[in-house]
Amino acid sequence: TVLRPLDLHQVLQDVLLLVCYELGRKTIELRENHDDMPLVMGDSNKLKQVFINLVMNATQAMGRGGRLTITTGTTTDGDARVVIADNGPGIPDELKAKIFEPFFTTKQEGEGTGLGLYLCSNILAEHNAGLALDTAAEGGAEFSIIFPGMSGGR
Ligand code: ADP
Ligand code: MG
Repeated sequence: TVLRPLDLHQVLQDVLLLVCYELGRKTIELRENHDDMPLVMGDSNKLKQVFINLVMNATQAMGRGGRLTITTGTTTDGDARVVIADNGPGIPDELKAKIFEPFFTTKQEGEGTGLGLYLCSNILAEHNAGLALDTAAEGGAEFSIIFPGMSGGR
């Protein structure tokens, strides 16, 4: 993994170009709440994989007519925060730890490998980034990622 200073807004924009066809096909509404973020040290191809996985999981969970919300900003510690939330069925408490395990999937045979979130956690660990799962305000799943900000003084 080669880490370079990255503008996560640019990475997210590239990802949305890749997934916009699928969002349109499923008539999923995209809401974006962008705020300033510090640059982060990252591998853009790997981070694209992370964001694509999270967006595709959300899209699959919601089905037609869902709403995907992407929020960016800076934490009080000067770190970069990216939140990907959906208004799908959410994740039951008893599955919250399991979904990060390799090969854990609730999808039909052939529709999911169960590797997506496992890969996401590994890639984010390589970036010293934290991944947290919460229940979104609308009851769906909400994945928050915190990346160490480059201007955060550490
Ligand atoms: P896969 O997508 O191949 O099933 P993942 O590792 O990406 O594997 O996800 C594991 C499981 O986590 C999914 O099968 C699903 O049960 C659950 N999951 C992930 N994201 C969401 C989401 N946004 N909403 C509801 N369930 C989710
Ligand atoms: Mg997946």
